[in-house]
Amino acid sequence: MKKTVKVEEKIVIAHRGASGYLPEHTLEAKSMAYAMGAHYIEQDVVMTKDNVPIVLHDITLDRTTDVADKFPCRVRDDNRYYAIDFTLEEIRTLSATERFFLDENQKIQEYKNRFPINTSSFRIHTFEEEIQLIQGLNNSTGSDVGIYPEIKQPIFHRNEGKDLSSAIVSTLKNYDYKTKKSKLYLQTFCFEELKILKNEILPDVGIDLNLIQLVDNENTYPWIFEEEGMQRLANFADGIAPEKSLIVTNLSTVSSIKITQLVRRAHAAGLKVHPYTYRSDPGQMPSYVKSFEELLEKHYLDADVDGIFTDFPDKATRFLQTI
Ligand code: CA
Repeated sequence: MKKTVKVEEKIVIAHRGASGYLPEHTLEAKSMAYAMGAHYIEQDVVMTKDNVPIVLHDITLDRTTDVADKFPCRVRDDNRYYAIDFTLEEIRTLSATERFFLDENQKIQEYKNRFPINTSSFRIHTFEEEIQLIQGLNNSTGSDVGIYPEIKQPIFHRNEGKDLSSAIVSTLKNYDYKTKKSKLYLQTFCFEELKILKNEILPDVGIDLNLIQLVDNENTYPWIFEEEGMQRLANFADGIAPEKSLIVTNLSTVSSIKITQLVRRAHAAGLKVHPYTYRSDPGQMPSYVKSFEELLEKHYLDADVDGIFTDFPDKATRFLQTI
């Protein structure tokens, strides 16, 4: 079966910035992603103690900063340091670094080939500062790069007395993201929160934005994977961002690629498909491909996804330019 693939409409989303090259979610990583030609740049957003949305992947600070060295007494019982327990002023004193894990109190860099941990000087910034960076670059370069914020763990935030979604939406409105034509996708893993956004938060402030349902497996919301699931999702969302093995299964081999029904069903329901996360680091590619470019080819062209989240936006933009 031959299908028409519209390459010019496909997008590259810089996952946490150009996080393959610089510490994730730093303004430096976002600037690099911008310069590499990403169409959208991702922000993970969490809330501080004093109600400021900041850009941070985890709801905790201890895998990407020196919080444990600077504020040892602020640890919770589970040995983690929660961003929500710190004011913005305190968070601004932290050094951000390449992601690490602890092995007998030794900091071990998660991706050994990436930017060395605890070198140079990086900071955590607010969601607003990141929008200003991207809109500022749009102004100075004449490009029109979009933003792709994620509402991190909305239920956790609500349980802590914080309405993160409303804070994010209010910031977006202030920066003129107000319609589905705005260069913006707003994402969350939580379908219940997506419904609240669609039915309450967005109408309450009189704006309408593109919403994306993240999905990391088939079990959290099994109805999405049923015959009519995408049609039902389309009542609330404009697209779906699945883990990439839900597009091309890990049962695939070099000689036998297994593409699921997800893209076909999503497109039939009018939904965009933006899977994650495409990494070219050693050991990060599925066994059914021999190169990163081949992985991009299988997903962008054979499976016909509309965009991808990648830590290496330069490689994806180059791929789309050369096919
Ligand atoms: Ca994310």
